[in-house]
Amino acid sequence: MGRVRCLALTLLVACTPSPRMVLSPSQDVRIGTVTLGLSNVHALFGRHVVLVDTGSPGESQQLEEGLAELGVKPGEITCAVVTHGHSDHAGNARWLQQHGVKIIAGSGDLWRTIRGEHGKLTSTSFFAQLLKITIPSHYAPFWADVRVRDRYDLNACGVDGEVIALSGHTQGSLVVLVSGGKVALVGDLFRGGALAGYVHPWSPKEHFYQDDIPLVHRRIHELLARGVEWFVLGHGGPSSRADVAREFE
Ligand SMILES: [Zn+2]
Repeated sequence: MGRVRCLALTLLVACTPSPRMVLSPSQDVRIGTVTLGLSNVHALFGRHVVLVDTGSPGESQQLEEGLAELGVKPGEITCAVVTHGHSDHAGNARWLQQHGVKIIAGSGDLWRTIRGEHGKLTSTSFFAQLLKITIPSHYAPFWADVRVRDRYDLNACGVDGEVIALSGHTQGSLVVLVSGGKVALVGDLFRGGALAGYVHPWSPKEHFYQDDIPLVHRRIHELLARGVEWFVLGHGGPSSRADVAREFE
C-alpha cells in the first residue's frame, strides 16, 4: 500500500501514493483506487469486482500490479465501466476485454472507442492547452460489450450500483452511483486539486477539457440534487458534497 509512484509531467515532477483504499461512507461498497500516470482507476468491491476506468494506453502492467496490491485476484473482475472515450480512461479497455472483462461504455462515445481515438479536446484554460501534448490521442480500439444509452444496473456485474449516462464532458460520458446513490464516480465531470491533482487532490476544480461547460455544470447540480455526498474522480479526489457545492454554486 505504501508504494510511491512518481509522475514527470512537462515542467512538473510530483509523487503520489498508489494504490490506496477509499471507503465509501456507508461502507457497503468499498472503493480502492490505483493512481496511474495520468488518471485514477477505481475498483468497486461488491460480490465481485468492477473497475471504473482503465488508465492510459501502455499501463496494463502497472494497473495489474496496483490491483494486486489492492487484493484483487485475476478472474475476480467481472466488468469495467469506461466513463468516457478519452485515452487516459479507455487506454486498457481492450486489454481487459481480452482477459474476459465485460466492457461498459456510453453509446455517445462509441465513435471514439471503435476508432481508438479520443477526438478533439476542448481546453478550458491556457495551462490545459499546454498539457494537451502529454496526453496520448490513440489507444487500442474496442467494441463495448454493453453500450449505455440511459442507465445500466451494475448488479448484473455483482456490485450494488448503477451506471447512468450523463453527457457533458463528452457526449457519451457515464457516472457510476453506489452506496444508495450517496457516492458518485464521475470520471472527468470535474477534477480534483491543483497541478493535475497532485496538490490538494480533494479540492474540486473545472476539468482541463470539456465538450460543453454549461451542461457539465448542470450535471453537477443534478447529482447534488440527487443527494450525492461524495464524488470520486478520474483525477485527484475524492471531493465532498460541501466542497463541490461551493466550487460550482
Ligand atoms: Zn476526459
